[in-house]
Amino acid sequence: MQVYKMLIDGKSVDSRSGEYFEVYNPATSEEIGQVPSATKGDVVEALESAQRAFEIWRDTPANKRAHYMHKVAEVIRDNIDNLSVVLTKEQGKPLNQSKDEVRGAASLIDYYAEETRRITGEIPPSEHQDRMVFVFKDPVGVVTAIPPWNFPLSLLARALAPALAAGCTVVAKPASETPLSTIMMANLCLKGGLPKGVFNVVTGSGGRVGEELVKHPISRKICFTGSRDVGKRIMKLSSEFLKNITLELGGQCPAIVCKDANLDIAVDAMIFQGFRNAGQLCNRVNRIYVEKEISKELITGLVEKARKIIIGDAFSPEVDMGPLINETQLRKVHSHVEDAIEKGGKVVLNGRRMSGGNYDKGFFYPPTLITGARHSMLVMQEETFGPVIGIREVRDLDEGIALSNDNTYGLSAFVFTRNLKDALYATRRLEAGSVWVNDIHGTYVHCPYGGMKESGLGREQSHFGVDEFLELKTVYLDLAEKNRGGYLCVH
Ligand code: NAP
Repeated sequence: MQVYKMLIDGKSVDSRSGEYFEVYNPATSEEIGQVPSATKGDVVEALESAQRAFEIWRDTPANKRAHYMHKVAEVIRDNIDNLSVVLTKEQGKPLNQSKDEVRGAASLIDYYAEETRRITGEIPPSEHQDRMVFVFKDPVGVVTAIPPWNFPLSLLARALAPALAAGCTVVAKPASETPLSTIMMANLCLKGGLPKGVFNVVTGSGGRVGEELVKHPISRKICFTGSRDVGKRIMKLSSEFLKNITLELGGQCPAIVCKDANLDIAVDAMIFQGFRNAGQLCNRVNRIYVEKEISKELITGLVEKARKIIIGDAFSPEVDMGPLINETQLRKVHSHVEDAIEKGGKVVLNGRRMSGGNYDKGFFYPPTLITGARHSMLVMQEETFGPVIGIREVRDLDEGIALSNDNTYGLSAFVFTRNLKDALYATRRLEAGSVWVNDIHGTYVHCPYGGMKESGLGREQSHFGVDEFLELKTVYLDLAEKNRGGYLCVH
């Protein structure tokens, strides 16, 4: 059994506790590695190492920081095969999707490497003669990054890359289900030349290590991606030091299908976004509101397409969908299906755990479609985080928008219509951080991403993403001082 180590101050280290926790393959339930359970002392050591490195990294010229970051991205790409195998083993997604994730993480680092040179201040006009005023942007300080297990590398990179670009240093705490690929990536960053202490990784389970990081005064900014409830807890804990926080939380994302929509396109897009990564996606299609005139046709199309999804061994090239992450997640997904059935919903595709042969070893749940969905059902209100979609008929676009917005989440929304006026109307009215019209694909790195309402605070990606790691500082300079004998010493 491979025993992994944390990365603190450029060194691979065990925990002071000498204790470890196990990481399992969700497709086979086999143990695939052991990882240190960090103590409070380990956390403090990692933060202090990041603090020391910050004093140097913040003053490293932007072009040099960019150079380090491009090199790191290159090393990650060179090791894509090893990294994706580990990612697939611990997370369960098909190997080609793990490769996409590794490529995505590297391209984020490349994008933000360029952004280092675009971090500029301002020189506003002065209100006095012989005076100038400057607005600088200072790095916020040591950053704590806490990503979830569904996209451990790309979501870590969404925090790590802009933080490094801004001149911040990072201590990351990967999710306990998926720490192995993060440890590997951190070692590749070191191999790529990133100075020691700039990126540290501590590991632990049950939220304990994450809380130690959040509570410690050295970490000045918390970047958390995960569930809404943990996000709220982190916000509370951060308030003691009024820390700067970015929260990327859950979603319960609606898709509205109007009667004039191109149904082939709508079906393809919603199947893609409903079931990829086994539905363990924050901005997945959770619920569909379809105008009743085309409801039957849409459901037939969805069932036909979803039936073709191949579920199984994530290392087989023909497989589209792997297992859920663990038994807890599987139970949660099924409880949402049971709740829908109790409340009168009709399961028109699948609806129970897969069994027989290798399916018995892992946590496989097939694509599931529920029609006649009611507003009160968990599949229409809460984040299922699994391959289940609820479908409800609506009278018109307005009813679809009203039901879409009547939810505490506000991450993403999707609209299908051939009427441009309706499309624009819907995009203005929907309470969501991103809206896709007539197609669904991955986000663009140069465009902001984040949620409204209880889906989060702040934005990641794009130049807005780097602003989250910068403090504005205004400097008033009295030039008249030179007439009074000052500013002589310029060397
Ligand atoms: P989670 O239970 O909230 O855990 C996320 C991370 O937080 C893990 O690293 C976890 O570590 C840590 N953690 C747990 N309790 C903590 C605490 N009290 N203090 C500090 N850290 C703590 O979420 P998850 O189940 O891993 O991920 C799924 C969630 O992430 C979903 O809600 C999904 O929508 C959301 N998500 C959002 C986005 C977005 O961009 N908006 C993207 C992807 C996922 P341990 O393993 O030690 O518990």
